[in-house]
Amino acid sequence: MSRQGPRPTPRNQFSFSRVKTFFQCPARYRFRYLKGMKDAFRSIESHLGTAVHDVLEWLYAERREGREHDRDDAAERFTERWRAGWNDEIAVVRIDQRPEDLEVVGRDMVSRFVDGVFARDRSATVALERRVQLRLDDGLVFTGFADRVGRTEGGRLFVVDYKTSKSLGDTSDFSEGLQAPLYAACTLETEADGSALAGYHYLRHDTTRWQQIDGDAAARVISHFTRLAVTADRATDFPTRPGPLCAWCGFNHVCPDARVPDHLAGGRRLAIERSLPRALGDDGRGDPTTAD
Ligand code: SF4
Repeated sequence: MSRQGPRPTPRNQFSFSRVKTFFQCPARYRFRYLKGMKDAFRSIESHLGTAVHDVLEWLYAERREGREHDRDDAAERFTERWRAGWNDEIAVVRIDQRPEDLEVVGRDMVSRFVDGVFARDRSATVALERRVQLRLDDGLVFTGFADRVGRTEGGRLFVVDYKTSKSLGDTSDFSEGLQAPLYAACTLETEADGSALAGYHYLRHDTTRWQQIDGDAAARVISHFTRLAVTADRATDFPTRPGPLCAWCGFNHVCPDARVPDHLAGGRRLAIERSLPRALGDDGRGDPTTAD
């Protein structure tokens, strides 16, 4: 059975991060996906992740074209991406963090990657940043982007997701349990293989964890994700769920229950600062807290 289509729309399209947002905080989900509000800031950690992913994608794209690069090239490329992507929407959430220190962390991550995993890697790249899509029940569609799809020297299909987080994940749904397995399940359909490996590579830890996804595992993960997406789609109540993630929430300047300690207030301060000209420049009709 083909699981392609119907066409994804903002209403029926459920990415992994959309479902994750709903279960982490329904109010945040409502702000972002139902009211269509834009996050008021982007964390510097997210900026780090984007710049690192850009470099990894470039390294493999270059290899596919027969061009190899060393650790210095990768570090230089990282700095270029870091600086090109920097803008006034990026917030340093941890007040005592210096952006230049995180830039060094990023340069180190890509340099170590080139000397380690990349130097040893004999696999072939099938696709980079591949868009995956799957029809779910209830007229919903799963969409996402797989960082890298490849084949081992022995021809085994794999999907790998790169992580720049400080800590290693676990097997829970919104850590390692769902995302890469879902991407692998989608890829099984397009590549027509019987099974694939789904992996997470943790750049700060120089380690990759793999799980095997065969037809049965793919069916289980799709059905589980469908249940979660349908729950989010049918929800009528969107309570706030204050906690450690509030400091990184792009709506913490308008959320009545935001819990943001002073030492993690960089995002909230930037959000307030950025919303001031708009708030002063109109008669309240632009107030995102009243938009519906
Ligand atoms: S600030 Fe916290 S409670 Fe409020 S929407 Fe964001 S994550 Fe939820």
